[in-house]
Amino acid sequence: MKEIIPSPPPLVHNQFEAVRDLFSKNVVPSYGRFDLALSHGSGSYIFDVAGKRYLDLGSGIAVCCLGHAHSAITEALVEQSRKLIHVSNLYFTEPQGRLAAEIVKRIGAGKVFFSNSGAEANEGLFKLARKFGHDEGRFEILTAVNSFHGRTMAGIAATGQDKVKKGFEPMMPGFRHIPFNDLAAARNAISPATTAILIEGVQGEGGVTPATPEYLLGLRRLCDEKKLLLLMDEVQCGYYRTGKFQSFQRILEGVPGGEKFLPDGISMAKSLGGGFPMGAFWVRSPYADLLGPGTHATTFGGTPLACAVALKIFEVVECEHLAENARKLGDWLKNELERLAKTYPTVVKNARGLGFMLGLELAEKIPAFASSDKSAAVQFTSRMQAAGVLVIPAGTQVIRLLPPLNLKPQEAGEGISKIEEVVKSLV
Ligand code: PLP
Repeated sequence: MKEIIPSPPPLVHNQFEAVRDLFSKNVVPSYGRFDLALSHGSGSYIFDVAGKRYLDLGSGIAVCCLGHAHSAITEALVEQSRKLIHVSNLYFTEPQGRLAAEIVKRIGAGKVFFSNSGAEANEGLFKLARKFGHDEGRFEILTAVNSFHGRTMAGIAATGQDKVKKGFEPMMPGFRHIPFNDLAAARNAISPATTAILIEGVQGEGGVTPATPEYLLGLRRLCDEKKLLLLMDEVQCGYYRTGKFQSFQRILEGVPGGEKFLPDGISMAKSLGGGFPMGAFWVRSPYADLLGPGTHATTFGGTPLACAVALKIFEVVECEHLAENARKLGDWLKNELERLAKTYPTVVKNARGLGFMLGLELAEKIPAFASSDKSAAVQFTSRMQAAGVLVIPAGTQVIRLLPPLNLKPQEAGEGISKIEEVVKSLV
């Protein structure tokens, strides 16, 4: 394969203040940003505008699955953009058809719709659920407490966290929240208006909490019994992050009855394009034609460019056995994080997660954090940045590791020793 590796810019401009100034004058301040302006990357490393190097264990929140500036992605972008970047979905294109087939092959009989983001993929699932229940007057979707499903109006209504709803009331009707991993609560919450249940396989923003196998199998039985759609948001936890294409495939591995399990709809995004923005949802066969012509659309969904990139990423993931890498190196990382929890209980409460979706829960009331009103997760993340590692906060107490699927063992080792350094400094 022809190598097209972008070389890092030779000149380093230490212009953090200037960049931040541009933002404060011109960019809507809806994000709480860290004092860090990033410039370029290579593999698992990323550089700021001052030339400082960071090990990126966050991958743009589970997006850059092949790390930064991967030659296969660059090549796919260059090659496809020379041929065709965009056509309307009024027409057929081969890359979109081939990519849909690749996704179906990895999940099960069904069909795929392409979107541009995770929130938009979930919007499609909401519309699918409404269409499914429409003729019987059913419209309500049950979602989990602490879930996260995106920032659109329906997304925040679906999300089981008050902080995303605040200031945007009234909420779009048709969503209710149930405690996660509690089958009895799900059964009790079903009303005559309920049409679907939507959960994440592993809650991400909520703090890295995997669904239990019993919960998944129980929800499937419940949905069959009550004629509800079972929908899964795999936007963050999907795409090989847990060691299997979708997280439920990993959670149910070896569990009796697990091999037959399939949800009715799955949303995806993030790693699907490796940083090129795209999303998708898959619908199981019996319901795959519910959204017929004219019912759902988007201008940019499934462009030849996005699909060519996604097809190339599938190829790399398979050739380089990256699912196995996420599983094996993820197991090693988790053991190490558990060791830190045992060794430094006043700083680390526990470690959890699967594969390359790991969470480190910080202890309450770490004395060194007492003088700041910032959350423990944010303060820990800042200390990690000072030590040269990017990690992602989840909620107020959890640090997430979502490294690229091609993280190398020595990089994992470097990450752990930097985390231990920061943990030790807080004892
Ligand atoms: N669903 C889950 C589980 C997510 O983690 C996210 C984003 O973090 C979304 C949906 C929304 O995706 P996007 O930000 O691409 O709209």
